[in-house]
Order: sequence, then structure tokens, then C-alpha cells
Amino acid sequence: MKDDTAGSATRAWVRDALALLEQEVTRSADTHLLRLDFPGFPDIAFYFKDEASHPTGSLKHRLARSLYLYALCNGRLRRGQTVVDASSGSTAISEAWFARLLGLPFIAVMPAATAPQKILDVQALGGHCDLVEDPAQVHARAAEHVANGACHLDQFGLAERATDWRGNNNIAESILGQLRREPRPEPEWIVCGVGTGGTSATIGRYLRYRRLDTRLCVAEPSGGSYAHGWRTRDRNAVASQPTRIEGIGRPRVEPGFIFDVVDDVIEVDDCASIAAALLLEQLIGTRYGGSSGTNFAACLQLAAGMRTRGESGSIVTLLCDRGMRYQQTLFDPDWRDTHGLDIAPWQQSLADALESGVLTSTEGFA
Ligand SMILES: *Cc1c(COP(=O)(O)O)cnc(C)c1O
Repeated sequence: MKDDTAGSATRAWVRDALALLEQEVTRSADTHLLRLDFPGFPDIAFYFKDEASHPTGSLKHRLARSLYLYALCNGRLRRGQTVVDASSGSTAISEAWFARLLGLPFIAVMPAATAPQKILDVQALGGHCDLVEDPAQVHARAAEHVANGACHLDQFGLAERATDWRGNNNIAESILGQLRREPRPEPEWIVCGVGTGGTSATIGRYLRYRRLDTRLCVAEPSGGSYAHGWRTRDRNAVASQPTRIEGIGRPRVEPGFIFDVVDDVIEVDDCASIAAALLLEQLIGTRYGGSSGTNFAACLQLAAGMRTRGESGSIVTLLCDRGMRYQQTLFDPDWRDTHGLDIAPWQQSLADALESGVLTSTEGFA
């Protein structure tokens, strides 16, 4: 018999790593599903899945956990191996956190222009940030690390398949379970943004799997690639304008975006997203990031349409990350002035909508 000491040691380490991940899940609580009611929409219940309450502050906590599990169970990740991914944001922070848990070196390949706070967050967790001048080069740089033996977590390539779409407390199963005792446990709509496409794929598949009529709406920054791509079923679609909203609004359609499980796409102006994030802070008492605002603005547009048609029901959306990460950008009035973002008209019309059920200035929505 061949001496397989090295093989057994590898399997033993994988076993220990999986146990560590399971312990982490057991120590963690599920994220809250918050409910809000608005006078303008007496027949519509709004629910917000608070993904900012994960230990690493965003829905990327779920994704990072899944990506490590997937790499481990595919035999691609070994003791002491460096882990790498291309990410300029929440994913890198969550991946760095899990790398520390597993005792692995972690490299985040990021554009040099990434917000300094995010670089500091990754470094504080023991991760290394490899900054590249040209944002288009991040994937090539990650590939260089892989050629040198690193394990590629590959959020954009694997998000859609690393998550257990039939359950295992994925975000969709969690939401529907938390709605169980509500007056309308089967939502009319679930609204989410798209970055990797992992979240929308998981929700869309799970709705079908559970044989629900709930529809899935993607909230996308105006001119985003997913809006163009979804309407024309073109995987090569590109964004017609950039966005200031991080985590969503990809310049091109990523491989994990599944067109066929999406029932509608609503485009939201960046100013409306920021105004909606500030409105959420007033309503909930906590500051969330820009993409949470994009989601909320899209919910109000859907709700206004439902109200006009005399429909009732519930709408669920996601609070994707903590607003603290954008203190020096989206939530700094001087920064907004410098970037020509006037949110005042949107603050007014969104606040009015809560009272009247009508979104007056729908300019900026498509
Ligand atoms: C990643 C991300 C999203 C989008 O989620 P995906 O599952 O990647 O499509 C939305 N908002 C924020 C803040 C994110 O980091």
C-alpha cells in the first residue's frame, strides 16, 4: 500500500477547517427581518432583511463562507495556502475575516483608487491588499497569484454555484422562514441589487423550488449593464454610465447573473439611492449603504404601482451593508457637492411617497 501520510494530513486539515466554519455558523445568529408600514401604503407591508448585522457587516459574509466551503469541499484549499480574490469592497473584508478564522494568508487584489477605509478594514483583519493602478487588470493580477500557488475564491465566477440554492439557510430560505407568521407570508415581490449575481440567482431559484408566485425584481443603478442585458438577453451588455453605488452596478454582465429568474428590473438614479439610504436611517435608526437605498427606492416604485392597480401584499428587500463605510463619500454633503449629486429633490419625493403612496418625481426611474 502506498504511503499516504501527506494525503491524510491534508484531509485532516480540511476536516478541521470545515469544523471551524460550522462552529462559526453555530455562534452566529440569523439576520433580522425588519418590518415597516407607511401611511401612504395601507395595504402593503414592507420587510427589510438586515444583512448589515453579520459579523463582517454585509451580505458578503454569507458569500465568503460559501466560497470557502466550496473551495474546501472541492479539494482546492490546503493548510497554509494563500487565498486570493479580486474585490474592492465588502467581499474582501468578509473573505479576510474567514481567512483569519482558518489561519490562512489572504490577498485582496484591488484597484488603487479603492476607498482608504476599506483597505484599512482588510488590513486590520490581517489581509494584504495588492493595489493595481488599472481597475481592468484586477483579474489578471489575481491570476498571477493563482499561478504562484494561491487558491482563487473567485467571487464573480463562483458566487452563483457556491451557495446552496435549495436551502441550508440561504438568504431566501431565511427570509421566507421569518415571514412564516406574518399576515402575508408569501411576498408579492422580493427586491435585490446585483453585483456577482449570487443573491438574485439564489432567491430566484428558491422561489421556484418552493413553488411560490413571488416575483423577483432587480434594483439597478441607472444605465447599468444588468438592466440592458436583462431586457435584451445580451450577456455582453455593458453599462452606459458609471455609478457611485458600490457593490452593484457592474460595468458588464458577470457570469453569475441568471437572466431567467428575474421578473423585472428597475433602474434607480444615484441621487435617489443616496436619498433613500438617508430616509432608511430616519426610519430604522441605522445607517446603511447606497445599495440598500437603491433597493428601497425600487420598492417604493413597485409599491406605488401596486397601489395604483389596487393590489395589496408584501414587499421584501435587503439592507446590504453598513453605512459607516461611506461616511467620507455618499454621506458627506461636501463630497456630494464635489461630485454634482443633488439629492434634495429625491429626499422630498421619497418622503412624500411614504405619506401619499405616490412617487411624484419618477424621473430617474426606468
Ligand atoms: C455584493 C453586494 C451586492 C450585490 O449582491 P450579489 O450577491 O453580489 O449580487 C449589493 N450590495 C452590496 C453592498 C454588496 O456588497
